[in-house]
Formats: sequence, C-alpha cells, structure tokens
Amino acid sequence: MLDALFRPKKVAVIGASSKELSIGNRVIKNLIDFGFKGAIYPINPKADEIRGLKAYKSITDCPDNIDVVHMVIPAKFVPQAVEDCGKKGVKHIIINSGGFSETGADGEAIEKDFLTRAAKYGIRIFGPNCQGVINSDPDIRAYCNFTFTKPEPGFISIVALSGGVAEVIHQGFAAMGVGTRIYASNGNACDVTIPEIIDYLEKDEGTRVIVTYVEGLRDPANFMQTVRQVTASKPILAMKAGRTKEGAKAAASHTGGLAKEDLATDLIFKKAGVVTFMDEGELIQAAAAFATQPIPKGNRVGIITNTGGPAVIATDILVGAGCQLPPLSEKTATLLKETLYPEASVNNPIDVLATGTAAHYRACMDAMMADDAFDCVFINFVTPFFVDNESIAREIVGVSRQGRKPIVCNLMTDRHQWTEVVKILQDGGVPCFSLPGEAARAMAALVRYHEIRSREIGEAKSFGDVDKRKGENILAKAGEAGRKNLSADEVYGILDAYGIPVADWQMASSPAEAVKAAESIGFPVVVKADAADVVHKSDMGAVAVNLNDGQAVHTAVEQMQQKLTIDGLRFLVQKYLPGGLEVIMGAKAEAGLGHMVMFGLGGIYVEVLKDVVFNLTPVTDAEAEEMLSSIKGAPLLKGARGQKNVDRGRLAEIILRLSQLVSDLPAIQEMDLNPIMAFENTAVVVDARISL
Ligand code: ADP
Ligand code: MG
Repeated sequence: MLDALFRPKKVAVIGASSKELSIGNRVIKNLIDFGFKGAIYPINPKADEIRGLKAYKSITDCPDNIDVVHMVIPAKFVPQAVEDCGKKGVKHIIINSGGFSETGADGEAIEKDFLTRAAKYGIRIFGPNCQGVINSDPDIRAYCNFTFTKPEPGFISIVALSGGVAEVIHQGFAAMGVGTRIYASNGNACDVTIPEIIDYLEKDEGTRVIVTYVEGLRDPANFMQTVRQVTASKPILAMKAGRTKEGAKAAASHTGGLAKEDLATDLIFKKAGVVTFMDEGELIQAAAAFATQPIPKGNRVGIITNTGGPAVIATDILVGAGCQLPPLSEKTATLLKETLYPEASVNNPIDVLATGTAAHYRACMDAMMADDAFDCVFINFVTPFFVDNESIAREIVGVSRQGRKPIVCNLMTDRHQWTEVVKILQDGGVPCFSLPGEAARAMAALVRYHEIRSREIGEAKSFGDVDKRKGENILAKAGEAGRKNLSADEVYGILDAYGIPVADWQMASSPAEAVKAAESIGFPVVVKADAADVVHKSDMGAVAVNLNDGQAVHTAVEQMQQKLTIDGLRFLVQKYLPGGLEVIMGAKAEAGLGHMVMFGLGGIYVEVLKDVVFNLTPVTDAEAEEMLSSIKGAPLLKGARGQKNVDRGRLAEIILRLSQLVSDLPAIQEMDLNPIMAFENTAVVVDARISL
C-alpha cells in the first residue's frame, strides 16, 4: 500500500543541506513553500537548523513513525542509511541520488544491496535516481520532490519514470492553468513500479484521470494486467516515445520484418484500453478535458459557435476522428429560432453570430443538453468587444457544472485583455483551448475513451480438439536436433494438431515418390522443395504450381534437384488450390508477453502493401473479428468489385487457433502462414514456416 508515500505525515531528509543550491536544501524548501501539512525533519550531523527547522544528527534521533525519508546522499552511503531507516521503522524511502543501476555494474550492485536491506524491513523504495512525488491534495500538500512546478490542486495525476518528461507534462498543465493532483516520477523504479502507482491512483478518489509516459515497458504482462482493470473505471492517457526508430531486426519471416519496433507496447495499450497519444501537447490538452468533464455516452457532437470558420475546422477534425454531427431535431430548431437572432444559423453547428448574447448561448447549450441526439457539446467562443463576454463565460460554466454531457471550449481571445473571461472559465473547470483543432482533438479523446470502455472485449476461446502433446513432441524433436527452422512436415504436423486446415500434402524424396504422392492427393498439385536453407521458395525456383499429371510432377522435381544442390533436399507435394484470396497470418514471440499475432493481405502483396494488423495473445473472438475488419483491404474479404466474398468465420477461427497454438507452444519464436487461401466456404493454409 502506497498510502504513506503519497499521503505522508512525517518526512525526513537524509542529506539535508544548508546550501541554497542543493537538492538536500531544495526538497525542504519545496515542502515548506508548498504548505506541507505534516512534519519535516532535516537530517545533517553538522547542522542544528536548516531553513528554520530543527535538524537531527541521524535518522535514529528523529521522532518515530516516519512515512517518507528522502535520501540525498552519495550512492555508497545509501545501503547503510537504508539499514538505519529499517531499524527506525520508516515506511518509504525516496532516493533522489543517482549512481546506481543507471551507471553500470558497480551501481547495480549497490542498488541490489539496499534493496535486500529494504525488503528485510518491509521498506518500499521510490527511485533511485528520481525526482520524487507530489500530492496537491489540500489535506496533504506534500512536495517530496526537488523540481519547481507548483501545481494548483486538480484531478489529473501524472506518473512517469522520466523526470524530464514528467516535468514537461507538469509544466504543460501549469501553462494551461489546469491543476494536477499526484505526481510521481520514479527514475530507476527499482522497487515501486509504474503499474503499482497506477493501481494506487485508481483507488485515489481525487484522481479522475491518469497521465503516463512510457519509453518501453519493464514488465509488460504485469502492466497489461493492472492497467486493463484500471481503464475499465478510470481513464489512462498515455504517450510512448521512440516511434521513429525502424525495426532493426532483419527477420527471415514476414511477421518479424513487418512488426514495427516496440509495436508490442502499442498493442498492450490498445488491449488494455489506454487512450494513446502521439504528441505530448495533445495528451495534455485531452487530460484537461478528462479532468473536469464527464465521459460522453456516444460520438455525436453538437457545435455552438459565434464565428464561422473555426467551427468548420473543428467539424473536419471531429468527423475525421470518427465523431458525428447530427442535425438538430425539428423541436430543438423551432425552439432556438424563437430565441436567437433571425440571421443566426440554426443547424449543427449553430451559429449564434458574433452579436449572440449569453442568453443565446445558454439556450443553445440547454437545448443540446436536453436533446438525445447529442452526446457532447463543442463551444467556439470568440470574445467581441460589443457583447458581455463575462456573462457568456458564466453561462458556459453553469452548464458545464451540471456535468450532463462533456463540454470543451475553443476560446478565441486575447488572454491579456479578457483576463476575467479566462478566469471565469478556468475557475469554472471548463476545458479551454486556443485553437479549434486542439479543442476538437480533446473532445475526440473523450469519445475515444467512451468507445474503449464500451467496446466488446470478447472471449479467448480454447478449442478442445487440439493435440497439444503432438505439437510439443514435434518441437522437442526439432529442438533436440538443434534445428531453428522446422521442416515442412513438422510445420504441417503442428498445424494439423491445432485444427488449422492445410491443403492436402505428402512428403517425397524422389521424382517417382512425388508422382505417387501426387496421384494419391489428386491432380492438379504443387511441388515445393523443402530444406533448412530454403526460405523464400518461389524466389529460388522451388515452387512449381498447377501440375496436372505425373509427367509434369516428375519433371518439376528433377529440375529442382538440378537447380538446388542441397543435401537432404525433400519435396512437399500439395493440392493445388487456385482462385482464392491470399491472406497472411503469423505470430512472433514478445519477451515477457506471449506472442503477437498478425493478420493481413498475403502472397505477393505482403511486402508491397504491408497491409497487416497485430494483436497480442490471447486473442479474443471480438478481437479476431476486429483484426479482419481493420486491414485496409477489408472490403476484399467482403467480395469487392465482383469478387466472391471469403469465409470470414473460418479466418477468425484460424486466428483464434493460431493464438492458442503459440500460447501452448511458447518455444515458437516466429511463424508465418503465408499464404492462406481464403475461399467462399473455407480457408486453407498452403505455405507455413515455424522457427524456434
Ligand atoms: P514461398 O512463400 O516460400 O515463396 P509459397 O509456398 O508461399 O512459397 O508459394 C508461393 C506462391 O505460390 C503462393 O503465394 C501462392 O500464390 C502460390 N501457391 C503455393 N502453393 C499453392 C497451392 N497449394 N495452391 C495454389 N497456389 C499456391
Ligand atoms: Mg509463402
């Protein structure tokens, strides 16, 4: 339980300093200046007093029941200091100092050392190499942190490892005049983790929205589990950095090559219901809307404006983000026509005109709040000198305070001239933005969270007809033989075991055997060379399709034998299945997280179009269905332009079986099913690859 960390009553500072420009001095100053409600104990063997507070020689001299100890001392002294804190019964230690695992092996050893000692006493460590925490709750006012942003109390809590980014985000809110609540930047995070803090914030009633920044997840499975459950009740807004780096790994298979670097983090965010952002500004602005506004019940936006163009910009952005702008109902329109100026435009957007009054704005807002056709209200408000703008602002606040439907406001003003208008809106908790696009994107984020929360999660089906043992045995044999790539018969054997339909096949070692195999499968057939080094078969002339008789099979095998002088070359004879839509599925192991499963357009289009989507195991039925719908080529599955539609149900089932297969057989590093031939009534794998 992190309560004592975020709501401390007694805070000591080991390494408290009389020097103005030191962290050991600054944390004390911050605690005092921020109006900390508890007691502060500077610890310094040489000082009697620091910043007007009685200083103690050591932690053992301090009063008991210390909730939080700051450590601002060189790394090498930390383990002993932790030991002393343990004896004293300290609950939490924030280690601001650096010099630990972030510096190399020696530092890492010190980190391990103090961690063991802390564990012995049940002390939780925050950091090291970190800023610390802040809680702006008026009952607490804890500024256990050495930075400088002094937040107004608010409903947004921020958590990030990186102190720099946490500070940037904090500053962003301050610049907007938006308050924040808990702030936690835990550096190396050697003990208290981000998911743990997020879990705490979920239970913190004063936190309405959690903002986080991530550069890659330490323990993805844990993150996923915690966060998924939090997002069901409280929004988490996140941004991940490091997107521009191209996946460096050149993988032999398509699945590996197509997976963007750290795609898994995005997939975790998505699966866990996190609202993600590519831009920190957008994240901050959206959080400002989440802080005070209710979550909409749908995506239908009503716009009220007193100037034309900005409403058009907002409309484009809202619609582009998937929102709708329904027309006003006849009843609403009639009502408003009676109230507004005759020249006003009574549509959606409603243009009350620049001369529109507070009463006009109020009538429009009330109408949209009452009208079931709208889920959210977007206000465009320019402040002309010839109307009473303060009254308009007050009406907006009044309606926003009702909390019926979310409101965002694009406030077009000179913030130095119209200070009172700005203040009324800000104090009133109306999220105000300086550009129509900013306001529209914040609104769209609210809608996105609504959609996340109401989405169907579905079920990860477990098929009872699979033969896990058979799969394990095949993998064990290949593993013992030290083979990285499974042979064709092994691959098809595993697919068989998992009920994934494959085209009829047999292995052959000679032209004569191949002819016999072809006769038993039935013409036409395909012949493919199979050997460890043959990866992209058609590039090497190792695929011969549409062979209609024994002679053709014989010749094809002979030609491959001549061309591919490889020891142990064997041949897969397979039923030829022309005329289907080629799709691809695949899977790739993700450390600590199971596998990513891929679906997309297959065959020769894979590399060119890269029209593929990913998800994480276990894939649920709803997610499989969503994967089928979310590729760009989705209409092709429905039979675009006179083509036949394909068996989506079967494809979805194969995705689920594939998910189960790789979950059951974690030794699989990568696998490709490319292509799967999809037909109207079935879908069949004709090429597959598995590597360990
Ligand atoms: P590779 O991907 O190693 O080049 P494939 O086995 O995928 O080899 O074969 C290449 C292409 O040949 C496939 O994308 C598909 O268009 C076609 N093909 C392969 N096997 C069959 C089959 N059994 N029926 C119909 N077409 C096939
Ligand atoms: Mg292929």
